[in-house]
Amino acid sequence: MGMRFDTLLFPGGLSRAFTLSYDDGVTQDHRLAALFRQYGLKCTFNLNSGMYGHKFSEGVIRMEEKEIDECYAGQELGGHALYHSALDSVGKPLMAYEIIEDKRRLETHTQRPILMFAYPFGTWNDDVVEQLKMAGYEGARTVVSTGSFTLPKDPLRWDPTCHHNDPKLMELAKQFAEGPALGPMLFYVWGHAYEFDGMQNWNVIEELCAYIAEHKEGIWRCTNGELLRYMKAHNALEYSADGSMIANPSALDVWLRLEKGATCIPAGGCVRA
Ligand SMILES: [Zn+2]
Repeated sequence: MGMRFDTLLFPGGLSRAFTLSYDDGVTQDHRLAALFRQYGLKCTFNLNSGMYGHKFSEGVIRMEEKEIDECYAGQELGGHALYHSALDSVGKPLMAYEIIEDKRRLETHTQRPILMFAYPFGTWNDDVVEQLKMAGYEGARTVVSTGSFTLPKDPLRWDPTCHHNDPKLMELAKQFAEGPALGPMLFYVWGHAYEFDGMQNWNVIEELCAYIAEHKEGIWRCTNGELLRYMKAHNALEYSADGSMIANPSALDVWLRLEKGATCIPAGGCVRA
Protein backbone atom coordinates (compact mmCIF):
# COMPACT_ATOMS: atom_id res chain seq x y z
CA MET A 1 0.00 0.00 0.00
CA GLY A 2 1.41 3.36 -1.00
CA MET A 3 0.12 6.87 -1.46
CA ARG A 4 -3.29 6.84 -3.09
CA PHE A 5 -5.45 9.40 -4.83
CA ASP A 6 -8.94 8.13 -5.72
CA THR A 7 -10.94 10.23 -8.14
CA LEU A 8 -14.67 10.29 -8.76
CA LEU A 9 -15.66 9.31 -12.28
CA PHE A 10 -19.10 9.51 -13.86
CA PRO A 11 -21.12 6.52 -15.15
CA GLY A 12 -19.17 4.50 -17.71
CA GLY A 13 -15.88 5.74 -16.24
CA LEU A 14 -16.18 9.22 -17.80
CA SER A 15 -14.52 12.36 -16.42
CA ARG A 16 -16.95 14.87 -17.88
CA ALA A 17 -20.62 15.64 -17.16
CA PHE A 18 -22.83 18.17 -18.92
CA THR A 19 -26.14 19.50 -17.64
CA LEU A 20 -28.57 22.29 -18.46
CA SER A 21 -31.16 24.31 -16.50
CA TYR A 22 -33.91 26.47 -18.03
CA ASP A 23 -36.48 28.46 -16.11
CA ASP A 24 -40.10 29.61 -16.15
CA GLY A 25 -41.80 26.98 -18.35
CA VAL A 26 -42.35 29.35 -21.27
CA THR A 27 -43.78 28.39 -24.69
CA GLN A 28 -40.30 28.64 -26.27
CA ASP A 29 -39.39 25.55 -24.21
CA HIS A 30 -41.14 23.47 -26.89
CA ARG A 31 -38.43 24.39 -29.37
CA LEU A 32 -35.63 24.18 -26.80
CA ALA A 33 -36.63 20.76 -25.42
CA ALA A 34 -36.93 19.41 -28.97
CA LEU A 35 -33.41 20.66 -29.66
CA PHE A 36 -32.06 18.94 -26.52
CA ARG A 37 -33.81 15.70 -27.53
CA GLN A 38 -32.40 15.93 -31.05
CA TYR A 39 -28.85 16.15 -29.67
CA GLY A 40 -29.32 13.66 -26.83
CA LEU A 41 -28.87 16.27 -24.06
CA LYS A 42 -30.55 16.43 -20.65
CA CYS A 43 -31.96 19.51 -19.00
CA THR A 44 -33.81 20.40 -15.81
CA PHE A 45 -36.75 22.71 -16.59
CA ASN A 46 -37.85 24.75 -13.59
CA LEU A 47 -41.56 25.60 -13.52
CA ASN A 48 -43.89 27.86 -11.55
CA SER A 49 -46.85 25.54 -11.04
CA GLY A 50 -49.15 28.40 -9.95
CA MET A 51 -48.65 30.28 -13.23
CA TYR A 52 -49.56 27.91 -16.06
CA GLY A 53 -50.78 29.91 -19.08
CA HIS A 54 -49.65 33.20 -17.52
CA LYS A 55 -48.80 35.95 -20.00
CA PHE A 56 -46.06 38.29 -18.77
CA SER A 57 -45.60 40.00 -22.15
CA GLU A 58 -46.04 39.26 -25.85
CA GLY A 59 -42.86 37.19 -25.89
CA VAL A 60 -43.01 35.66 -22.40
CA ILE A 61 -45.98 33.32 -22.06
CA ARG A 62 -45.93 30.27 -19.79
CA MET A 63 -47.31 27.06 -21.24
CA GLU A 64 -50.45 25.33 -20.01
CA GLU A 65 -50.17 22.41 -17.62
CA LYS A 66 -51.58 20.03 -20.24
CA GLU A 67 -48.61 20.80 -22.53
CA ILE A 68 -45.82 19.88 -20.13
CA ASP A 69 -45.76 16.07 -20.43
CA GLU A 70 -45.20 16.16 -24.17
CA CYS A 71 -42.87 19.16 -24.09
CA TYR A 72 -40.54 17.83 -21.39
CA ALA A 73 -40.57 14.12 -22.26
CA GLY A 74 -37.23 12.58 -21.22
CA GLN A 75 -36.16 15.71 -19.31
CA GLU A 76 -36.43 16.64 -15.61
CA LEU A 77 -38.86 19.04 -13.96
CA GLY A 78 -37.72 21.26 -11.11
CA GLY A 79 -39.48 23.78 -8.87
CA HIS A 80 -39.18 27.55 -9.30
CA ALA A 81 -41.70 28.74 -6.64
CA LEU A 82 -45.47 28.80 -7.06
CA TYR A 83 -45.75 32.45 -8.24
CA HIS A 84 -42.09 33.28 -8.93
CA SER A 85 -41.77 35.62 -5.95
CA ALA A 86 -38.41 36.88 -4.73
CA LEU A 87 -38.36 34.48 -1.79
CA ASP A 88 -36.07 36.51 0.46
CA SER A 89 -38.52 39.43 0.36
CA VAL A 90 -42.06 38.12 0.96
CA GLY A 91 -41.99 36.97 4.59
CA LYS A 92 -41.48 33.45 5.84
CA PRO A 93 -45.08 32.14 5.58
CA LEU A 94 -45.49 33.01 1.90
CA MET A 95 -41.92 31.93 1.17
CA ALA A 96 -42.67 28.52 2.72
CA TYR A 97 -46.00 28.23 0.87
CA GLU A 98 -44.44 29.15 -2.50
CA ILE A 99 -41.85 26.43 -2.03
CA ILE A 100 -43.97 23.61 -0.62
CA GLU A 101 -47.19 24.08 -2.60
CA ASP A 102 -45.21 24.41 -5.86
CA LYS A 103 -43.38 21.18 -5.09
CA ARG A 104 -46.60 19.39 -4.13
CA ARG A 105 -48.34 20.40 -7.37
CA LEU A 106 -45.39 19.39 -9.56
CA GLU A 107 -45.12 16.06 -7.77
CA THR A 108 -48.85 15.44 -8.12
CA HIS A 109 -48.37 15.98 -11.85
CA THR A 110 -45.19 13.90 -12.33
CA GLN A 111 -45.89 11.28 -9.63
CA ARG A 112 -42.24 11.50 -8.52
CA PRO A 113 -40.48 13.46 -5.79
CA ILE A 114 -38.93 16.62 -7.29
CA LEU A 115 -35.28 17.13 -6.32
CA MET A 116 -34.20 20.39 -7.96
CA PHE A 117 -35.17 24.00 -7.49
CA ALA A 118 -34.05 27.26 -9.13
CA TYR A 119 -34.19 30.51 -7.16
CA PRO A 120 -36.60 33.03 -8.77
CA PHE A 121 -34.58 36.14 -9.65
CA GLY A 122 -31.60 34.27 -8.23
CA THR A 123 -32.41 35.63 -4.76
CA TRP A 124 -32.11 33.58 -1.58
CA ASN A 125 -31.02 33.72 2.05
CA ASP A 126 -30.33 31.08 4.68
CA ASP A 127 -34.04 30.86 5.67
CA VAL A 128 -34.96 30.05 2.06
CA VAL A 129 -32.28 27.36 1.91
CA GLU A 130 -33.53 25.89 5.21
CA GLN A 131 -37.11 25.82 3.89
CA LEU A 132 -36.00 24.07 0.68
CA LYS A 133 -34.29 21.44 2.79
CA MET A 134 -37.41 20.92 4.90
CA ALA A 135 -39.50 20.56 1.73
CA GLY A 136 -37.21 17.74 0.61
CA TYR A 137 -35.22 19.54 -2.07
CA GLU A 138 -31.68 18.27 -2.66
CA GLY A 139 -30.41 21.03 -4.93
CA ALA A 140 -31.09 24.65 -5.90
CA ARG A 141 -29.49 26.69 -8.67
CA THR A 142 -28.34 30.26 -8.31
CA VAL A 143 -27.58 32.70 -11.15
CA VAL A 144 -23.92 33.18 -10.22
CA SER A 145 -21.48 31.99 -12.88
CA THR A 146 -18.35 30.21 -11.71
CA GLY A 147 -16.72 30.03 -15.13
CA SER A 148 -15.38 26.69 -13.91
CA PHE A 149 -16.22 22.98 -14.01
CA THR A 150 -16.28 22.11 -10.31
CA LEU A 151 -18.93 19.92 -8.69
CA PRO A 152 -21.18 21.81 -6.24
CA LYS A 153 -19.83 21.75 -2.67
CA ASP A 154 -23.27 22.76 -1.40
CA PRO A 155 -25.94 21.67 -3.94
CA LEU A 156 -28.59 23.91 -2.30
CA ARG A 157 -26.41 26.88 -3.26
CA TRP A 158 -25.41 25.52 -6.65
CA ASP A 159 -23.60 28.03 -8.85
CA PRO A 160 -23.67 27.08 -12.57
CA THR A 161 -20.72 27.38 -14.95
CA CYS A 162 -22.33 30.15 -17.03
CA HIS A 163 -25.43 31.58 -18.72
CA HIS A 164 -25.80 30.81 -22.43
CA ASN A 165 -25.13 34.47 -23.28
CA ASP A 166 -21.70 34.35 -21.68
CA PRO A 167 -19.27 35.55 -24.35
CA LYS A 168 -16.94 32.73 -23.28
CA LEU A 169 -19.56 30.00 -23.80
CA MET A 170 -17.88 28.18 -26.68
CA GLU A 171 -14.42 28.77 -25.26
CA LEU A 172 -15.58 27.09 -22.04
CA ALA A 173 -17.19 24.27 -24.03
CA LYS A 174 -13.91 23.62 -25.80
CA GLN A 175 -11.89 23.73 -22.60
CA PHE A 176 -14.39 21.29 -21.07
CA ALA A 177 -14.59 18.77 -23.91
CA GLU A 178 -11.04 18.88 -25.26
CA GLY A 179 -8.87 20.12 -22.39
CA PRO A 180 -7.23 17.88 -19.81
CA ALA A 181 -9.47 16.31 -17.12
CA LEU A 182 -7.47 16.04 -13.88
CA GLY A 183 -10.62 15.36 -11.85
CA PRO A 184 -14.36 15.17 -12.49
CA MET A 185 -15.57 18.10 -14.58
CA LEU A 186 -19.13 19.47 -14.71
CA PHE A 187 -20.21 21.97 -17.36
CA TYR A 188 -23.52 23.55 -16.28
CA VAL A 189 -25.34 26.05 -18.56
CA TRP A 190 -28.55 27.90 -17.67
CA GLY A 191 -30.96 30.47 -19.10
CA HIS A 192 -34.53 31.18 -20.23
CA ALA A 193 -35.78 29.99 -23.63
CA TYR A 194 -37.62 33.28 -24.30
CA GLU A 195 -34.23 35.01 -24.40
CA PHE A 196 -33.45 33.25 -27.70
CA ASP A 197 -36.51 34.86 -29.33
CA GLY A 198 -35.82 38.23 -27.71
CA MET A 199 -32.19 38.35 -28.85
CA GLN A 200 -32.75 36.31 -32.00
CA ASN A 201 -29.84 34.12 -31.07
CA TRP A 202 -31.10 30.53 -31.21
CA ASN A 203 -27.84 29.86 -33.08
CA VAL A 204 -25.97 30.18 -29.74
CA ILE A 205 -27.69 27.17 -28.16
CA GLU A 206 -27.78 25.24 -31.45
CA GLU A 207 -24.03 25.61 -31.79
CA LEU A 208 -23.44 24.51 -28.18
CA CYS A 209 -25.74 21.47 -28.51
CA ALA A 210 -24.07 20.38 -31.77
CA TYR A 211 -20.62 20.77 -30.21
CA ILE A 212 -21.44 18.74 -27.09
CA ALA A 213 -23.12 16.05 -29.23
CA GLU A 214 -19.99 15.85 -31.37
CA HIS A 215 -17.99 14.96 -28.24
CA LYS A 216 -20.69 12.88 -26.57
CA GLU A 217 -18.62 9.68 -26.24
CA GLY A 218 -16.61 11.29 -23.44
CA ILE A 219 -19.46 13.20 -21.78
CA TRP A 220 -22.17 12.03 -19.39
CA ARG A 221 -25.21 14.07 -20.41
CA CYS A 222 -27.42 14.19 -17.30
CA THR A 223 -30.19 16.14 -15.63
CA ASN A 224 -29.36 18.10 -12.47
CA GLY A 225 -31.18 15.46 -10.39
CA GLU A 226 -29.28 12.57 -11.97
CA LEU A 227 -26.03 14.28 -11.03
CA LEU A 228 -27.24 14.84 -7.45
CA ARG A 229 -28.28 11.19 -7.08
CA TYR A 230 -24.91 10.05 -8.41
CA MET A 231 -23.03 12.33 -5.99
CA LYS A 232 -25.15 10.96 -3.13
CA ALA A 233 -24.27 7.40 -4.12
CA HIS A 234 -20.59 8.37 -4.22
CA ASN A 235 -20.79 9.99 -0.79
CA ALA A 236 -22.40 6.82 0.58
CA LEU A 237 -19.46 4.53 -0.36
CA GLU A 238 -18.05 2.57 2.57
CA TYR A 239 -14.28 2.07 2.96
CA SER A 240 -12.32 -0.45 4.96
CA ALA A 241 -9.73 0.96 7.39
CA ASP A 242 -6.83 0.06 5.11
CA GLY A 243 -8.69 1.35 2.06
CA SER A 244 -8.44 -2.01 0.30
CA MET A 245 -12.21 -2.62 0.19
CA ILE A 246 -14.89 -0.26 -1.10
CA ALA A 247 -18.57 -1.15 -0.72
CA ASN A 248 -21.46 0.54 -2.49
CA PRO A 249 -24.72 0.26 -0.51
CA SER A 250 -26.66 2.39 -3.03
CA ALA A 251 -28.81 1.33 -5.99
CA LEU A 252 -26.50 3.07 -8.51
CA ASP A 253 -23.18 1.81 -9.90
CA VAL A 254 -20.40 4.24 -8.88
CA TRP A 255 -17.18 4.70 -10.84
CA LEU A 256 -13.80 5.67 -9.39
CA ARG A 257 -10.38 6.12 -10.88
CA LEU A 258 -8.15 3.95 -8.68
CA GLU A 259 -4.51 3.09 -9.09
CA LYS A 260 -5.48 0.19 -11.35
CA GLY A 261 -7.61 2.44 -13.56
CA ALA A 262 -11.31 3.24 -14.01
CA THR A 263 -13.22 0.89 -11.72
CA CYS A 264 -16.95 0.28 -11.31
CA ILE A 265 -18.17 -0.28 -7.75
CA PRO A 266 -21.43 -2.02 -8.61
CA ALA A 267 -24.67 -1.15 -6.85
CA GLY A 268 -24.87 -3.30 -3.72
CA GLY A 269 -21.37 -4.69 -4.32
CA CYS A 270 -17.91 -4.53 -2.77
CA VAL A 271 -14.62 -4.39 -4.69
CA ARG A 272 -10.94 -4.55 -3.80
CA ALA A 273 -9.16 -1.30 -4.58
ZN1 LIG B 1 -37.61 32.61 -13.35
